[in-house]
Amino acid sequence: MPRITRKKIKDEEAFRRQLKSRSLKLTPQRLAVHRAMCELIHASADMVQEHIGEECKISTVSIYNILSELADNGIYSRRYSPNNKMYFDVDPSRHVHLFDSRNNEFLDVGDLDLIPLVETGLKRKRFRGYKMDNIEIQIICHPTRKKLI
Ligand SMILES: [Zn+2]
Repeated sequence: MPRITRKKIKDEEAFRRQLKSRSLKLTPQRLAVHRAMCELIHASADMVQEHIGEECKISTVSIYNILSELADNGIYSRRYSPNNKMYFDVDPSRHVHLFDSRNNEFLDVGDLDLIPLVETGLKRKRFRGYKMDNIEIQIICHPTRKKLI
């Protein structure tokens, strides 16, 4: 049975090194957004703003721009949700997601066999005029109990 996982969060020093290697500075705004993302794991800009609260006044637009910049630089990744929101993921590596449609949240699934299985299944398939770049697996579901975690 696949396990829902909570991956180890990037520490601030690792975050600082990632920014530096991409010639980006560790501003107080980027650090506040990163701290919020480390707790939220998957979040939209307005969720990050709500999490930061009064601690640091940053507009939703600025937060969205910071999240987009981090995703464009491969530090975070983007997740398109069935509820038409742009979510960002603190973990840019390939992994399988559950999307809880009742609570509108992403959960990481620790089943690493699923991606190679789908890739193998699609290897012989051709999409005329297109070349496959990536496969993202997102399983849309709802909880069977009131609250699992
Ligand atoms: Zn994830």
